[in-house]
Amino acid sequence: MVMDETSPKYLSSTNRMINIVIFGPPGAGKGTQSAKLKDKFGLIHISTGDVFRGLNPESDLAKLAKSYSDQGNLVPDEITIKILESEVSKYPDAAGVIYDGFPRTEAQAVALDAFLKSKNTSISMALALEVEENELRDRLKNRALDSGRPDDADPAIIQNRIDVYNAQTAPVADFYKKQGKYVGINGVGSISDIFDRLCSAVQEKA
Ligand code: AMP
Repeated sequence: MVMDETSPKYLSSTNRMINIVIFGPPGAGKGTQSAKLKDKFGLIHISTGDVFRGLNPESDLAKLAKSYSDQGNLVPDEITIKILESEVSKYPDAAGVIYDGFPRTEAQAVALDAFLKSKNTSISMALALEVEENELRDRLKNRALDSGRPDDADPAIIQNRIDVYNAQTAPVADFYKKQGKYVGINGVGSISDIFDRLCSAVQEKA
């Protein structure tokens, strides 16, 4: 990591972790922007979608997760929360974590708060990438050309993911709004313009 004025040690006068939820619908650019933020701020990037896709495909857990994700449905909270907690526990010395694709339900948000509290830390901010639905559909269709993801390839499954987001995940925004941690970010434009908006928000909020 290149240390500059935005690196973690400059972001806070204490040793506080910077824990960022990257929030937004499928296709909003969470993965792309999380990878850039991770490098810039020296954080760990945890994507629950990547964790599920990285499981041994022969394992019962992978098969179970795939039975939900291939249809664009959410993996049950109990499983997802356990997986997330065990992933976070792999990095006890992290300067902070970017949570990408988690939490996706209010129960997950509550569990994450309790988990972080038990480690004497908390979510610093939820950065929400805002992109309208037609643009999401176009982006996911294009991503299907090289992602190899079955859930990107079928327009009906893409629509289900957007519907699931609207029904189960969008309400999580209120959870962070009530805590004063929600920051809406315009998610349309070039990758670098959107990244600049996110960086400004991190520097302001951290
Ligand atoms: P993503 O890579 O974030 O688009 O996630 C791909 C799929 O993994 C989702 O459609 C869900 O089936 C599953 N998934 C990822 N994160 C979660 C989560 N936090 N809760 C439930 N299911 C999840």
